[in-house]
Amino acid sequence: QGRRLAALAHAPTRTRDGVHMHLFANAEMPADIAAARACGADGVGLYRTEFLFLRGKQLPSEEEQFVAYRDLVLGMGGLPVTIRTLDLGADKADAAGLALHGEDNPALGVRGVRLSLRHPAVFTTQIRAILRAACYGPVRVLVPMLTQPDELIAVRTLFKLARQELSRAHVDLPEKLPLGAMIEVPAAAINMRALLAHADFFAIGSNDLAQYVLAADRGNDALEGIYHPLQPALLRLIAHVIGLGRRAGKPVSLCGEIGGDVRLTALLVALGLTEFSMHPSQLLKVRERLAGLDRTALRACAPRLLRADTYEDVQALLDQLA
Ligand code: PEP
Ligand code: MG
Repeated sequence: QGRRLAALAHAPTRTRDGVHMHLFANAEMPADIAAARACGADGVGLYRTEFLFLRGKQLPSEEEQFVAYRDLVLGMGGLPVTIRTLDLGADKADAAGLALHGEDNPALGVRGVRLSLRHPAVFTTQIRAILRAACYGPVRVLVPMLTQPDELIAVRTLFKLARQELSRAHVDLPEKLPLGAMIEVPAAAINMRALLAHADFFAIGSNDLAQYVLAADRGNDALEGIYHPLQPALLRLIAHVIGLGRRAGKPVSLCGEIGGDVRLTALLVALGLTEFSMHPSQLLKVRERLAGLDRTALRACAPRLLRADTYEDVQALLDQLA
């Protein structure tokens, strides 16, 4: 199997009926960059920046962050990289004490962009580092845990202010820097229409979207029968987000665990997904799987899949398709 997959490292990603698909890598630390290159990823679809904030007792400086982001950009050799702004809070508490402590319900608390916006100085340090790194290659910025448009507007404003400051100091700046919204809060998915005008692209965070739509902790094994990737409510939200994005002409990717699960590739194609981001270890397997799928036929099955009442029903339909 290893050799068969290795042969796919530099093959294009196409379905059996010739539809081109984009496969990006998720990266959490510098070592993942080489892995992303080795499997022939189209770029980095999710660069989690938390590692910089979790490894020491002090917040990382602008310079430290700049070096990490620049090395990511250079490491990808001109392929697009998507840097996600800080997603601390909930299960990710930093030693520097940025994340709040003692919240009764941290998963529903001050997390992700909510936390970043409460610390504009810390956030601006990250924003400046990203702006500077974006001169070295194509960069996009992704904002986690968005609920409503005002958060994205506030982030854009901080980027604009940081640009003005850097420009006054004669620092090189990228011409453009697309700003994207993670769709992982159910309200953002349901009311996605409100975000369309404010985001340049979208990335579905299916791990958290599932956790929040099902009210089931993503890490709690006792909830396996509830936290299930085939839950109809989750699938309908995913299809809704992909459809609205496509109609608005904005790219939509999916970067949760399910994006790298070959048992679910056919399903995601049926729902209209054309951009996947996943752990590099899964990428060649998904490329191989896609090559055996007929997208036209799968798309025709979407209405039936989306009408299913239970995840067992979805599974039965998928078994039939296979
Ligand atoms: C997600 O929620 O699906 C996601 C990709 O982000 P993280 O796993 O880092 O929360
Ligand atoms: Mg998430």
